[in-house]
Amino acid sequence: MSDTYIVHDPRFSALFIGHARLERLWTGGRWLEGPVYVPAAKSLLFSDIPNDALMRLDECDGSVGVFERPCGFHNGHTLDREGRVIACEHGGRRISRLDHDGIWRGLADRFEGRRLNSPNDVVVHSDGSIWFSDPTYGIDSHYEGHRASPELSSCDVYRLDPRTGAIEAVVTDMLRPNGLCFSPDERTLYVSDTGRTHDRDHTPCIRAYAIGPDGRPGEGRHFAASPSGFFDGFRSDDRGHLWASNADAVCVYAPDGTHIGSIPVPEMVSNLCFGGQKRNRLYITAQTSLYAIYVNAHACGFAD
Ligand code: MG
Repeated sequence: MSDTYIVHDPRFSALFIGHARLERLWTGGRWLEGPVYVPAAKSLLFSDIPNDALMRLDECDGSVGVFERPCGFHNGHTLDREGRVIACEHGGRRISRLDHDGIWRGLADRFEGRRLNSPNDVVVHSDGSIWFSDPTYGIDSHYEGHRASPELSSCDVYRLDPRTGAIEAVVTDMLRPNGLCFSPDERTLYVSDTGRTHDRDHTPCIRAYAIGPDGRPGEGRHFAASPSGFFDGFRSDDRGHLWASNADAVCVYAPDGTHIGSIPVPEMVSNLCFGGQKRNRLYITAQTSLYAIYVNAHACGFAD
């Protein structure tokens, strides 16, 4: 076995291509985050938060350039069901959307009259609602945004209805909710908690929340404890495996929570997403560099 993959459980062997290797596509950032694949543009957008830049990889020629700078200290991104980019902005402390006319429009910046902390990561449900985490990392210092005191007394996960602007707190039992995604059937919401940054006794973990008949998460349960460092961003593949950033690796979990394998990465991994024309290329943002590897899995929701 090469050192590209670490197999903890035979189930992982079916998910990678033995001779596929991790590729470093670009380097030169400060802290890369928030990759989102935009199929119609054959591009990957990703954040370089301290440089206040939104970067773009052109998948056709491999070039990387600035898509927008300054951009408002973007962190996480995703696509909505109409293919529009949804962004978490540390600078504006808001959720915004890049509309088809090329204009960024703010969708939410307050909860019950108080400013959000600094939206971090985001997913869109098939009903169009936008779910995002709101820890304080973008206001803790000037490095990833603008330092400020929180107006909210907690860090929660919110559900935003972009049609009405209604926003509600749906996960409220975490210290610093961070990455999140749905299972393929959308019956489970997974959320990572990086609260150890503010409480040394906190255990970095991913929790799973069953979605109830009302479309809201119920009580959470433990899903996975971090083997080292933190879980930051993660995504589900079409068969429900979680591909999670974790220190200097991508850790892969079976739907039952078993850590089945890992892909070591030379830098600290912040986030990842599936991309490529067949959504079987895992794009990985890690500290100063963008990496990718073809895998034998593809994006949740990809219809082939
Ligand atoms: Mg994050």
